[in-house]
Amino acid sequence: MPLRLFVATTSKGKLRDFRTAAETHAVSIDPLPDLADIEAPEEDGETFAENATIKAVYYSQFAPGAIVLADDSGLEVDAISGAPGVRSARFAADAGLVDSPDANDNTDVWNNIVLLQRLDGVPSARRTARYHCALVAAVDGKQTHQSDGTVEGMILNAPRGTGGFGYDPLFYLPKLDRTMAEIDLQTKLSLSHRGRALEALLAQFHI
Ligand code: IMP
Repeated sequence: MPLRLFVATTSKGKLRDFRTAAETHAVSIDPLPDLADIEAPEEDGETFAENATIKAVYYSQFAPGAIVLADDSGLEVDAISGAPGVRSARFAADAGLVDSPDANDNTDVWNNIVLLQRLDGVPSARRTARYHCALVAAVDGKQTHQSDGTVEGMILNAPRGTGGFGYDPLFYLPKLDRTMAEIDLQTKLSLSHRGRALEALLAQFHI
């Protein structure tokens, strides 16, 4: 019997990422049932780990006895002091360009535009960045496991590729000479922050 994990996310991109990354393990990953009907908690942590903990602990109370995962992730760009960081999903909203993040609208496009504006004039060598993912497991309102994953890259001057989501068309991997939006999902997850965080978490479950 595979270990059953629920993930508290409404993001189709994240769910697909987690499922693909878990394919080689004896684990099943499903969205938390009825997540859309549960009022979301305030994500007011200052770090990815704090926000992931807030979400995992909160949502685990709605699935008694189940292992519930939540992640918080984002992009840290060195030339702008680690921004957008925990505000990655809301970068354009914070800049007043869109009302609020919504998986079905053009938030990703606007976030990328804001990022390019903020990096205008910054030379290639100083456009270093990383994706960071903090992943937390909780059961019945208590945190049980935590892991982190990161991947280093550079921010391009213009988007490239159509895969992935979020900042992927701007996130360039020097070793592959590709952006995150130009590689297939298996490759992305073998080196991405989310794939690495999930691997590190599953290792703690010994699966
Ligand atoms: P969260 O849903 O609060 O974790 O916010 C994550 C945000 O960070 C997303 O909306 C994206 O803007 C960005 N992000 C996180 N992971 C990725 C990724 O794998 N590719 C592209 N953008 C990402």
